[in-house]
Amino acid sequence: MSEGTAKGFGEKPQPKKEERRKFQAIKGTRDLVPPETALWTRVEQTAQEVFTAYGFGEIRLPIFEQTDLFARSIGLETDVVSKEMYSFEDRDDTSVSLRPEATASVCRAYIENGMQQLPQPVKLYTFGPMFRRERPQKGRYRQFYQIDAEVLGGSEAPGIDAELIEMVMAFFGRLGLEGVDLDINCIGDKKCRPKYVELLRQELRKVKDKLGPDSQRRIETNPLRVLDSKLENEQKLIEEMPHIGDHLCEECAENYRGVKKELELRGVKYRENWRLVRGLDYYSRTTFEITAKGLGSQNAVCGGGRYDGLMELLGGPPTRATGFAIGEDRLILSLQEGGKTPLAQGRDVYIAWMGEKAYATSVRAAKNLRAAGFSVELPPVEQKFGKAIGQADKLGARYALILGDNEVVSGEWTLKTLATGEQAKFSEATFLEFLKKHG
Ligand code: AMP
Repeated sequence: MSEGTAKGFGEKPQPKKEERRKFQAIKGTRDLVPPETALWTRVEQTAQEVFTAYGFGEIRLPIFEQTDLFARSIGLETDVVSKEMYSFEDRDDTSVSLRPEATASVCRAYIENGMQQLPQPVKLYTFGPMFRRERPQKGRYRQFYQIDAEVLGGSEAPGIDAELIEMVMAFFGRLGLEGVDLDINCIGDKKCRPKYVELLRQELRKVKDKLGPDSQRRIETNPLRVLDSKLENEQKLIEEMPHIGDHLCEECAENYRGVKKELELRGVKYRENWRLVRGLDYYSRTTFEITAKGLGSQNAVCGGGRYDGLMELLGGPPTRATGFAIGEDRLILSLQEGGKTPLAQGRDVYIAWMGEKAYATSVRAAKNLRAAGFSVELPPVEQKFGKAIGQADKLGARYALILGDNEVVSGEWTLKTLATGEQAKFSEATFLEFLKKHG
């Protein structure tokens, strides 16, 4: 027991005034507060509706895992693992980390829960906070939120990738997200990609002197990542590099044609982008990225692709898999830029009451209205009617229900429509009917 607890709360000395600290949220984290949270709720509910319609079930995961799980799945040499994870020693000396992404945990859970015994593929979605110690800026945070969906098991049929992409596009469409662009690519598999990577390395070596230090290093460690470069002076050189599309084996090329055909069948518009690659060996074939407007340089709202080799890397049986992660913070920012902010959620009814009898009736009315699904504000202490109406206005209420002792005795309640100032009288029963019709 700590000293503080032993002494008890009340006896703790109060800090002197100058010692009192003003606490602030940690750099790169922020509070999400109303009314913005109404938009977050709408986004998550819509995801649930759309994903359920496509046969996905929700999985809830721990937010910390063994550090090794991420080191293995994301790769030791990536920035995420080498610099950005929040890691700490747990009691039994194992290193654990706050999750920087969800896919590794979904795969661990699939193996641990024996989901390979279920009918395949298993389709799962999850959402929640992720943690990366990045340099914060607009659309980039240290605690950010992702919405993930993964299809585990099953075949490599192009219809699986295409349906997954159709689903995320349908989700964005339902939300009214604007300026949505889908880029796709095929990055081959372990048969054909190594040859392409070697060819790319050789070509990059020829222009090494003209590249920056990061790209120079990557020529040897991971040449595919050079294609991600955003450096202005490297763009022309990179554009001249061999395209992976010209070096796919026949199976991968066939699969890629299939994915494109399937997307067309589903009316999903795409752009081919040969530079959309993933630097890790377990990725294969289809990769995709979706951008939206109003986000500046951090305009990717969703990244996804096939990762057929990951499950084995994590000790599971060979299992085909594909999935995506949506950056929810960016999705929300883009919706807000497009004017999709829901109005501050006002109350439906503010109950302006005066008198003891009126209060008892108001408590009952509030309970009945809330049970019928209306949002009701019942002030806990009596206020003059004028003040109550002012308060109702400030809260954005649509109606004020005016209940004084007279109304209670006569059984005639007054309902004021705040936008127009109109007033009408109702009995308790007809009042609820009216609201159900017009509320
Ligand atoms: P990744 O897991 O790196 O493929 O990222 C998937 C999506 O998550 C990206 O397209 C972004 O929308 C989002 N994202 C990644 N890192 C951050 C971050 N630090 N802050 C906000 N969103 C992020």
